[in-house]
Amino acid sequence: MDEAVALAGLALLGLVIGSFLNVCIHRIPRRESIVSPGSQCPQCQYPLRWYDNIPVLSYVLLGARCRRCRARIPARYPAVELVTLAVFVAHYLVIGLDITLVPRLLFACTLIVLFAIDLEHHLLPDAVTLPGIVTGLAFSLLLPPGIVSALLGVLVGGGVLWLIGEAYYRYAGQEGMGGGDVKMLAMVGAFLGWKLVIVTLVFSSVAGSLIGMLVLATRRGGLKYALPYGTFLALGALVASLFGERIVAWYVGLYQL
Ligand SMILES: [Zn+2]
Repeated sequence: MDEAVALAGLALLGLVIGSFLNVCIHRIPRRESIVSPGSQCPQCQYPLRWYDNIPVLSYVLLGARCRRCRARIPARYPAVELVTLAVFVAHYLVIGLDITLVPRLLFACTLIVLFAIDLEHHLLPDAVTLPGIVTGLAFSLLLPPGIVSALLGVLVGGGVLWLIGEAYYRYAGQEGMGGGDVKMLAMVGAFLGWKLVIVTLVFSSVAGSLIGMLVLATRRGGLKYALPYGTFLALGALVASLFGERIVAWYVGLYQL
């Protein structure tokens, strides 16, 4: 019974916070405030009433259009709300009702925001990654992975990608990876520690390569621009946040055999 209440509570919290993440995703790349004005239609500035702003439900009831100007509401809105719900529930099922759930959910929210902004704008804003690094380190002072692992995580995460970017730049003569990727992986390190940074890198590289090959097989050119690396980093970091400790334990166990 308690389990069901906690599950329902987290699902609801995921929907509500997902709705706020949509505001962040729309406004941060446009350098607009995320607190004021309240939610409004980007087309006609119609200020949304509470019943226009119910996660998922309003989108369905309004037929994906603004009540006043009938502008289309992007499917991203309900998608982000449902993904946030799923990510919250998944973390609860893996971690349980534990204090570490707080930094992990916060971390997952930044990943969702970075994923969506990178997908649309090919941009990983400093306004998200830099406060993310500070917040991750602050939580790691008191909670797992601990401050030493977190500081190493920032160094490993930032350092490895910086080196790859630098090598690519010298080899190809053009920027392969933006500074945003470097700061994003440093943020992953601040929240998850150095071991899970490596898990994140492995998973994002595998996912990137698989989807890259798929894109190469189906169409030509524009590969670099079709696939912002931050989206793969976000997916890899999410896997690491949920299953990283188990993956590391399994891997270490394998080598102790
Ligand atoms: Zn409108």
